[in-house]
Amino acid sequence: LEAKEEFRHKTLATDVMRPRRIDPPLSVLTQSGMTVEEVERLIADTTYSGFPVVISHQSERLVGFVLRRDLVISLENARRNQEGVVSMSPILFTECDPPMSSSAPPAVKLRSILDLSPFTVTVHTPMEIVVDIFRKLGLRQCLVIQNGRLLGIITKKDILKHMAQMANRDPDSILFN
Ligand code: ADP
Repeated sequence: LEAKEEFRHKTLATDVMRPRRIDPPLSVLTQSGMTVEEVERLIADTTYSGFPVVISHQSERLVGFVLRRDLVISLENARRNQEGVVSMSPILFTECDPPMSSSAPPAVKLRSILDLSPFTVTVHTPMEIVVDIFRKLGLRQCLVIQNGRLLGIITKKDILKHMAQMANRDPDSILFN
């Protein structure tokens, strides 16, 4: 695709990111407060390659990004090898453990599989720049932030699909979009 210069400047990260308004909300993990069972259910109910980790659902501040395959392996390992791990065991991506009673099931600590610096852009970042960064850094996804809150995700496939859609449109109409 040789996108027209006008189109490239006009399309912003917000136009390509998911979820769209009609989509279910972004599937995120919180850095604490989730159980092994809850994370296993999220994995079973979705097919996403990864999940952003946020401080809390309320703050939506991004902590990092975890790949689905790393989560699956770590949870299987914990279930198999870590003593006392049960469905109600808490999952922790935090640096320090929150205080817990001695009778509580042991926590599964997963900070080591967290990418603490996932690539982020803002909703206003022109897609021309996003595409350039994807190419140069060989990214598979990047996260979209507005005012410090996590709003969405853009995968390589999302970009390719968007480009294909644009290529199928009447080029003149793109100019007036
Ligand atoms: P791909 O785009 O290569 O198929 P994924 O399977 O991870 O990669 O994503 C499928 C779709 O879901 C994409 O449109 C992507 O933007 C979106 N997506 C990816 N991760 C999440 C997530 N954690 N929550 C909601 N949507 C996501």
